Amino acid sequence: MPYVITEACVKCKYTDCVDVCPVDCFYEGENMLVINPDECIDCGVCEAECPAEAIIPDTYQGAERWLEINREYAEKWPNLTRKKPAPPDAEQYKGEADKFNKYFSPNPGES
Ligand code: SF4
Ligand code: SF4
Repeated sequence: MPYVITEACVKCKYTDCVDVCPVDCFYEGENMLVINPDECIDCGVCEAECPAEAIIPDTYQGAERWLEINREYAEKWPNLTRKKPAPPDAEQYKGEADKFNKYFSPNPGES
């Protein structure tokens, strides 16, 4: 039962989650992170750290879509192991609906 990142992360990318993960299984896209579900050991500590409440267990209703997206992009994006500054406009997008369709970028992050 891995944890997955949802669209609440898009354009927020606070990266608080990265610092607490014991197995470094976060991967960075241009404007969102994903978790590699095959590496996540289901400890759950990252869930409470996310200011955007973007991290959920894959057993939650509606999580299947995010599980597929996390798996796909964890293979394409670079590993991120340290917290970095959030985008300057992150607060502006926090809590906005439908962020994946509006803003998601498939490009890798810079980590
Ligand atoms: S803490 Fe939340 S918003 Fe920040 S990168 Fe992690 S999942 Fe995304
Ligand atoms: S649940 Fe634990 S292992 Fe999985 S991504 Fe979060 S901190 Fe890492």
